[in-house]
Amino acid sequence: MSVYQELLKIAKRRHIRVIEESLPEELVFFNGIFAHCLDMDMIVINKDKPWKEKEFTLAHELGHYQLHRLTVDLAYYEADNDYHNFIEDEANRFANRLLAFLAWRLERGL
Ligand SMILES: [Zn+2]
Repeated sequence: MSVYQELLKIAKRRHIRVIEESLPEELVFFNGIFAHCLDMDMIVINKDKPWKEKEFTLAHELGHYQLHRLTVDLAYYEADNDYHNFIEDEANRFANRLLAFLAWRLERGL
């Protein structure tokens, strides 16, 4: 079991669809996207990124699911750079903690 597989399990338990997809040229800089619409949760991961980045991206997008899906004002998020950066930093901190926890657990065979 890898950390990535653990992350996929976490997503599955929450009924989040995770899709790995090659993105069109204008979106190659995107690592991933979380979308919550019509009561459906979906994470798209850029398939062409190195695995370590994909792992971080999946954890980061799970952070958006956990922390932001019902609370973020999308218009404000698009318009205000400080708010945007605050939200992204929060998802990054969530990802770092989740990855550290999963690695710690896997090392111990838990
Ligand atoms: Zn993000």
